[in-house]
Amino acid sequence: MSSAEVVHPVTLRCSFCDTKNRVDMSRAAHRPACGGCSKPMLLDRPVTVTQDDFDATVLGASVPVLVDFYADWCGPCKMVAPLMDEIAQAAFRVLQFSKNSYSNDWPFADTILQPWGFPINM
Ligand SMILES: [Zn+2]
Repeated sequence: MSSAEVVHPVTLRCSFCDTKNRVDMSRAAHRPACGGCSKPMLLDRPVTVTQDDFDATVLGASVPVLVDFYADWCGPCKMVAPLMDEIAQAAFRVLQFSKNSYSNDWPFADTILQPWGFPINM
């Protein structure tokens, strides 16, 4: 295996410039930089995922993904948010943490998950 080979690739959107980056999670501790703006990819906190990113970022990830579906108006979601941040910070080397804002406009969330309450973590 060459040193440039990507072992655990995930596709993540840069939180600074929205550029999609292919990041090797096995090198997450080395703080990889965004290919668009050169700022560090913030892997030790939840990554916001949209409907457009879901397939590539969540379903296409080569590492386990914890997805937090939340709603801004949800009181229990706000109560567990600090815990979700702690999990993301503690497990970022082995886990990708995605945070998804629930929306009625998101067919996946409505038809597949059929949410009965929030937050939903899967
Ligand atoms: Zn960037």
